[in-house]
Amino acid sequence: MSAELVEARPSQSSGRTSAPLVVAIIGAGPSGIYAAEALSQQTDPAVEIAIIDRLPVPFGLVRYGVAPDHESIRSIRNTLERTLEKPSVRFLGDVTIGADLSIAELRESVDAVIYAYGAGTDRRLEIPGEHLPGSFAAAELVAWYCGNPDTHPDAGQRRGTDHLVAAEIDELITRSRSAVVVGVGNVALDVARILIKSVDQLTDTDMAEEVLESLSHKSITDVHVLGRRGPAYTSFTTKELREIGEIDDVDVIVNPADLQLDPSSEAVVQQNKVAARNMVVFQDWAARSLSGAAKRIRFHFWTRPTMIMGKERVAAVEIERTMINSEGYVVGVGDRQSLAADLVVRSVGYRGLPLSEVPFDANTCRVPHAEGRVIRDGAFSPGEYVTGWIKRGPTGVIGTNKSDAVETVTSLLADVRNGAIQAHGRSGKLDRLLAERGISPLGMPAWHRIDAAEIELGTKHGRLRTTLAHRRQLLAAAESDTDNLI
Ligand code: NAP
Repeated sequence: MSAELVEARPSQSSGRTSAPLVVAIIGAGPSGIYAAEALSQQTDPAVEIAIIDRLPVPFGLVRYGVAPDHESIRSIRNTLERTLEKPSVRFLGDVTIGADLSIAELRESVDAVIYAYGAGTDRRLEIPGEHLPGSFAAAELVAWYCGNPDTHPDAGQRRGTDHLVAAEIDELITRSRSAVVVGVGNVALDVARILIKSVDQLTDTDMAEEVLESLSHKSITDVHVLGRRGPAYTSFTTKELREIGEIDDVDVIVNPADLQLDPSSEAVVQQNKVAARNMVVFQDWAARSLSGAAKRIRFHFWTRPTMIMGKERVAAVEIERTMINSEGYVVGVGDRQSLAADLVVRSVGYRGLPLSEVPFDANTCRVPHAEGRVIRDGAFSPGEYVTGWIKRGPTGVIGTNKSDAVETVTSLLADVRNGAIQAHGRSGKLDRLLAERGISPLGMPAWHRIDAAEIELGTKHGRLRTTLAHRRQLLAAAESDTDNLI
């Protein structure tokens, strides 16, 4: 990739001679791009924004987290793309902060940095047997079915993480009939839906061909979703919950006894409109008679896993009934049973990871901050800001990142006005440093070529687009016309 693709553009400050404020944002997911959007509306001083991502393509969890069968949510990408096309904004893909450049070097190259690198890993159950093959994190399955190149390594590529790769997931889901999904948030719904849908119900998505191929060999007939508290306490949004009941040839099973509300659940339903709407959905399902469908999704409330069992791989999950004790904690009440399962997917939330040289609170797994200003050694650190999941934790819908980014950018601009940070005439400094290191970032022209290649590949397969899941495919598409991609 040639360096001119991402060359710094001149400041938009027509007629003004003052140096622009140069801001680097680490992470080209929705939180980083919303921060760029808020910053790009600033004209005095003019701002130059570089959004850096270690992946060759932008959009973060909009591309690699939102389920492929949720096309309307994924289409937020078009709005995000418009921000990346703005004259004051540049995307620098395939650059890893912490490896290609240190935080200190980056901070020296720009006037301010916004950390927007999200929550890079999953939370664990901490129960015996969690390490068994067949037990893994929803985040791994999501990365796989969205075609994240981390999960689809190229032949000969060294394994970068302990996370599962495509061949392992393929083997696991091909051999499985019954899956347990632990957790009752929207990611659990995504996972349950993708695991239970037939491949024919997914071909109109942009899933990579090899993912569809794996899913075509899948023989999962039963998905069990475990909620450690009652149906009033789920984190589901009602639209996504209803969708589970609309999948062809799938019966949804809810035990009516689980819908008897104790006083605290009753209070939740009265105060929380989403919980009340979700209860109506559960009640509807509980009242339905089974249609004799070939596949089933069964919700188990007041149930938690206590052990994952099996010799060489997952064979069953020991589950236990639960209640909330007088101090508000979920506790087991005995009554343990074994639930046959070939897969256990923990969907109990994401977790932020530390980035070398960036302050990190190990208890909250977030970057400590006040209104988006990073706190370093107990004091506000001028020029360092944070937004998105690494700021507030892995909560909220994509749009939540917008108001979050506005708060952070408001703090940053206030600091410009009060003199805490200044424009030091650093325009072009980051590009020079990258060039000295022999690093050629992928910019928006490269993304457009990848985009075109994915659309062309989709057309060949009679689909709207097909995700390129391998890094070598992405890089080949970025550098050339759409030939020789596969
Ligand atoms: P989440 O909404 O925080 O749900 C996590 C679930 O895990 C909760 O039900 C929680 O139960 C449960 N849990 C936590 N620890 C557990 C344990 N040790 N044992 C059993 N259960 C445990 O997280 P998420 O589903 O990963 O979603 C992350 C964010 O992305 C959310 O804001 C979500 O709305 C968003 N998202 C949105 C969409 C969409 O809009 N379509 C799709 C995907 C994700 P407790 O409540 O009892 O702790």
